[in-house]
Amino acid sequence: MTAAPTTDGVLVDRYGRVARDLRVSLTDKCNLRCTYCMPAEGLPWLAGPQLLTDEEIVRLVRVAVRRLGVTEVRFTGGEPLIRPGLPGIVAAVAALEPRPRISLTTNGIGLARLAPALRAAGLDRVNVSLDTLDRDRFSRLTRRDRLADVLAGLAGAAAAGLTPVKVNSVLMRGVNDDEAPALLRFALAQGYQLRFIEQMPLDAQHGWDRATMVTADEILTALRGEFALTADPTERGAAPAETWLVDGGPARVGVIASVTRPFCGACDRTRLTADGQLRSCLFATDESDLRGALRAGADDDEMARRWRTAMWGKRAGHGIDDPAFLQPARPMSAIGG
Ligand code: SAM
Ligand code: SF4
Repeated sequence: MTAAPTTDGVLVDRYGRVARDLRVSLTDKCNLRCTYCMPAEGLPWLAGPQLLTDEEIVRLVRVAVRRLGVTEVRFTGGEPLIRPGLPGIVAAVAALEPRPRISLTTNGIGLARLAPALRAAGLDRVNVSLDTLDRDRFSRLTRRDRLADVLAGLAGAAAAGLTPVKVNSVLMRGVNDDEAPALLRFALAQGYQLRFIEQMPLDAQHGWDRATMVTADEILTALRGEFALTADPTERGAAPAETWLVDGGPARVGVIASVTRPFCGACDRTRLTADGQLRSCLFATDESDLRGALRAGADDDEMARRWRTAMWGKRAGHGIDDPAFLQPARPMSAIGG
């Protein structure tokens, strides 16, 4: 691989894309077992010493923000709210100069209690995952009877000012694919911004099937049965969601069509796993070991150099449609969604 130019202060790849959005996985563990993500019995979790410590996470985020031009930091997992040090990590990242925008992707369990402290620590916004409003369905889909906790988490986030509160929904055929209009009605009534995510081949069980996945077109057709959707005049930029105005606006709905309308050409992401491996893409098949370098005593210059080199090798696209496509060895929950 050609080495990246070492003098640049940004994470640029050979296709000219600049990564400004860092996704940091804080744990691979979770308190739900969504069927499209994890098996019922869970996964072989990372051992304690493999995980980055809170201080190591902050150090790497500091390198990204101070030396590599990262302006957005999103914490995810697994379930990031189960990491005890989360408020402290958020506070340390919020103290960086220049201060990045800080957000969290969560299943919402425990958010009702934690939202005020996270807001006080400097968290700007949250994305809460919610695939159904029906309690029995929720229990089947996530294998846990926790719908009430998620709804309370959403309300708590809004009350704490973690706004705009975004809701992420994955639809699955024969499970919750009839719920798109109901989810949008709910989001409109509560003032949340709803985005549907096409299911991707990132489940630990390798059960994803292109032929049966619910597509963006199907979701939009279902929504149009009840709502008028018109083109959103705002610039999309590197946002993964394509958005539409609902009934003339200002409310919007989004669809993240990673599979049927890939947006790799505008991707601005770089990713850090909970065990300190750098990934240039959700679908990357290789990783760069920042934890090893860090624990071997590398200084910030060296960490930044490794980060730039890894991002320079980012592939043009995820290649899901390529007959030679290989699902990454790590599932979504271990990469950080
Ligand atoms: N546990 C948190 C949550 O559920 O929001 C954060 C991690 S989760 C892996 C992040 C997002 O990825 C969630 O919105 C989830 O619905 C989504 N997700 C998980 N597996 C997926 C898959 N195979 N395809 C598309 N989205 C997926
Ligand atoms: Fe947990 Fe999120 Fe995966 Fe569901 S999607 S099992 S909440 S990590």
